[in-house]
Amino acid sequence: MTVGLVPTMGALHEGHLSLIRQAAGENDKVFVTIYVNPTQFGVNEDLDSYPKTWDRDMQLLHQLDEHLTRGDVSAVFAPTTKTMYPMLPPDSTLPGKGSFVNITPLANLLEGKSRPVFFRGVATVCMKLFNIVQPERVYFGQKDVQQTVIIKRMVKDFHLDTQVRIVPTEREQDGLAMSSRNVYLGERRRKVGIVLRKALLAAQEAFRIGKTSREEILAAAWEVTNRMSMEQDTMVPEQRARFEVDYLSLADPETLEEVALVDAQQGAVLSGAIKMLPLEVVRDGEAHGVGGDKVPVRLIDNVILSGTGG
Ligand code: AMP
Repeated sequence: MTVGLVPTMGALHEGHLSLIRQAAGENDKVFVTIYVNPTQFGVNEDLDSYPKTWDRDMQLLHQLDEHLTRGDVSAVFAPTTKTMYPMLPPDSTLPGKGSFVNITPLANLLEGKSRPVFFRGVATVCMKLFNIVQPERVYFGQKDVQQTVIIKRMVKDFHLDTQVRIVPTEREQDGLAMSSRNVYLGERRRKVGIVLRKALLAAQEAFRIGKTSREEILAAAWEVTNRMSMEQDTMVPEQRARFEVDYLSLADPETLEEVALVDAQQGAVLSGAIKMLPLEVVRDGEAHGVGGDKVPVRLIDNVILSGTGG
């Protein structure tokens, strides 16, 4: 009997379901965990307001389970914080008190620069979940590429007896990567939010036609974000949705160190993060996101530039 583990924070969407489908195809049993882990949220981050949709999540899991041809969703593990942190209460300060898994320098790069405790929290909670469930395989989404690299490193470095499986990113029709946080985006911010995907695709296209230098590849992405940003700047506050680019990165797939040139064999990870700023003026009649489009929303996405090494 084999078990596939799918760790989530709930507020399930098609991205989560695709992980579960793949896990069911490769294992007899799927364990889904739903736990909003406090230690991966910084003190000023959205822990308390993180979307919680328990009834709908259960409904989605039941529906999915009925249509699985192999395997089944055998358990949903939604532990309390006392179960996950039995000795000391969860601490998301630095250095903080408690038992932590630190995967450095990976955890300090990219997302880690603006979210310094994030990957310590992720690695710690995943280690706990892996130890509790002891799965043959664990499933993570390509959307969170840095997370996939860190989990693979943790499994190797700690000799964990599980196989890490990565599942492609599920997208909305226009290409926006699905995310539980997309509910915060009303119509206006939602439309502009596609800029990151467009920028990454432009950079991928530059690579496809033969560019291999960092400057040339990233320039294609920056051109898209700069253009879209200027377009918004020229609009009136009633109509625009402004954003900031946090980073656009071209990095080594294993170390996530920035590269000057894409190695033909290794390939590279092209990734980015933008912050959709709160709307300056909301109009009556337009469709608002949860929180009335007053919440800044960070969007991340990535594209793999494949090398010949596979
Ligand atoms: P979260 O609940 O956001 O922590 O995500 C739980 C798992 O689902 C993580 O492994 C994510 O990478 C994965 N995931 C989230 N969004 C997507 C998506 N759009 N496509 C594929 N996997 C996703």
